[in-house]
Amino acid sequence: MPFDTLIGNKRIKKLLRRAVSESRIGQSLLMAGPRGVGKYQFAVALAQALNCEQLTSGDACGQCMPCRKIARHEHADVRTILRESQDPLVKKEPRSQFIKIEQTRLMAEQAQFRPYEGRRRVFILDDAEWLRREAANSLLKTLEEPPETSLIILITPKPFALIDTIRSRCLMLSFAPLTASEIEQHLLGLKKTPDEARLRARLSGGSIGRAIEIDLAEYRDMRNMLLEMLETLAFSRSSTTLMSAAEYLGRKIEKDEFERHLEALTVLLGDLLRLKLRDGADSLTNEDVIDRLERIAGALPEASIIRLADGIEDVFRDLPRNINRQLAMEAMLIRA
Ligand SMILES: [Zn+2]
Repeated sequence: MPFDTLIGNKRIKKLLRRAVSESRIGQSLLMAGPRGVGKYQFAVALAQALNCEQLTSGDACGQCMPCRKIARHEHADVRTILRESQDPLVKKEPRSQFIKIEQTRLMAEQAQFRPYEGRRRVFILDDAEWLRREAANSLLKTLEEPPETSLIILITPKPFALIDTIRSRCLMLSFAPLTASEIEQHLLGLKKTPDEARLRARLSGGSIGRAIEIDLAEYRDMRNMLLEMLETLAFSRSSTTLMSAAEYLGRKIEKDEFERHLEALTVLLGDLLRLKLRDGADSLTNEDVIDRLERIAGALPEASIIRLADGIEDVFRDLPRNINRQLAMEAMLIRA
């Protein structure tokens, strides 16, 4: 597929397109950056560009036989190496945590072969931070001097977890998180409604994967409960309602889920502050409930919002010490 069909990271697109059209891709690549920003898709698009039969200014056509085979993972010269040992050339074994030395040795060996059907063999090694020293060492020579007809691409969210000798042999491409509007545009292309695309994009933290996977129904339920709590703080300050909110928030649930609640509350507080500062509705994450937020913002003093936000920070800081969550929630709400 042409690089333009991928989301974000324009600088890297430009760089790769130019390098392909000038045949300057020789060095092994390290694609680094947060999860869910499309690093793997960039690697596949590059493999296509290097093997496309109708290349135009560095971009693959996405239509020719090699392009289609690569997209379907059926091209003999393009391989993805995963730590789950899904490589059919590696004996079936239970999922391993690390990339195995058998996998890296095989890859180093195959990189020496000429392409079977295309112009360039491409090896994409995903989750490269799971290379242990021994496996990493077996790749050094190939990374440093790959044959002209082979390209190795390592992908990782944690480039500094890789040993120096690997990093120094690769050209590192640093991927930036996606902007909310880039994600929103992409989701609209996937036929999401404008409201949904906007909310998902704003909750995504810059990751397209997260934007797609967020369970919006669950989020809306959780948000509704948090809004009710904020409404109580703003209008009645009924201590019974607040205590039951504290009990609900502090109940025994997975730590992840508890953190998600607190994060959602932080985002709501951010929206309230923006309304207080008279920022446009456009700047709100939860724009779809702007009426409720405006009423709360009209009644809840700025100092209370800030005390709540500080309280959440304290709880996050103390979480590793296994605090009593319900008491922490009570303290946070009483202080607000
Ligand atoms: Zn093509």
